[in-house]
Amino acid sequence: NRQVLLVEKPAGKLGPEHFKMSQGAMPVPQDGEVLLRTLYISLDAANRAWMHGATYRSALDFGGVMAGGGVAEVVESKSPDFKPGDLAFGDTGWQDYAAVKGKHLTKLPRVPQLTNLLSVYGIAGLTAYFGFLDIGQPKEGETVVVSAAAGSVGSIVGQIGKIKGCRVIGIAGGKEKCEWLTSELGFDAAVDYKGESVFKALKAAAPKGIDVYFDNVGGTILEACLAQMNIGGRIACCGAISQYDGVPDAAGPRGVPGLIVVKRLRMQGFIVTDYFKDQARALKDLQAWVAAGKLKVEEDVIDGLENTPQALIGLLAGENRGKRMVKV
Ligand code: NDP
Repeated sequence: NRQVLLVEKPAGKLGPEHFKMSQGAMPVPQDGEVLLRTLYISLDAANRAWMHGATYRSALDFGGVMAGGGVAEVVESKSPDFKPGDLAFGDTGWQDYAAVKGKHLTKLPRVPQLTNLLSVYGIAGLTAYFGFLDIGQPKEGETVVVSAAAGSVGSIVGQIGKIKGCRVIGIAGGKEKCEWLTSELGFDAAVDYKGESVFKALKAAAPKGIDVYFDNVGGTILEACLAQMNIGGRIACCGAISQYDGVPDAAGPRGVPGLIVVKRLRMQGFIVTDYFKDQARALKDLQAWVAAGKLKVEEDVIDGLENTPQALIGLLAGENRGKRMVKV
């Protein structure tokens, strides 16, 4: 059983030296557990955030197998809910095989394209759908801004914004990503936060101000958006990737709480699992949009368990477009 271990807590930026490949024992499922063979491992910005300590999940076990979600096939089952051959999503960790409690797994359908179970029909799609629609409450004709717009969640948020009849502006790193957002995904405008002043570029791209900001990054980009929010605007706080990779917390953003009061803003965080009970509704809409060609699915699949550390390091550096995952 090949495993990727997280050897120590990174003090600064995450690097290959924080991981080690290892050969572990084949896990034996106990009562209520299922033996899984990992097929695809999801690479998430959150993997890095978990290294800071307990959040919505318990703290990581340094020296142990790196945690992470994946799509897996049931090899052996001691849970009444699963049988060999079933597909499941759960915390397999970065390894070939894992024994996981059946009650901690979600059974998955055998769709033609298994990778879609981690992208549009997985956490990314559900996060975009519920965070944007439930917290953002977009209305036709409104202006929507999304950061990390070329990533897995952001690229879906922006496209749902277009489906809902909004003017959509994406913020992403680099000209190429920005061009892709407007030419391929139908965004109305894109701001390259690495190459231009976000504040000025947003002012030009959103002359009527911002009604909904879907925030994946926090920090100075949040600050630039806050200043341009319209009265009654909504900010969906999805994540804060600018703060994850060893960067000390920024002092800002300036404007909190002053601008929130004056502009009567609603700013709300969420964790996608809060919405799992409603996922059938989301999946139905997402499937219909994909089938109608209104929602393009972008996936970035990297081959080989041994490449998982580099794939995460690269994701934090902005190498990916769409949903990054590793094919084990
Ligand atoms: P993505 O596929 O969006 O990849 C991360 C992207 O973030 C990179 O491609 C990079 O693109 C961008 N990025 C990296 N550093 C910075 C920075 N300092 N400032 C601005 N952008 C940066 O990853 P995920 O889909 O895994 O995560 C997106 C966000 O969604 C994260 O904040 C994550 O925590 C959150 N999330 C929240 C969930 C919830 O339940 N609340 C569930 C799932 C995800 P670029 O080239 O543009 O810099």
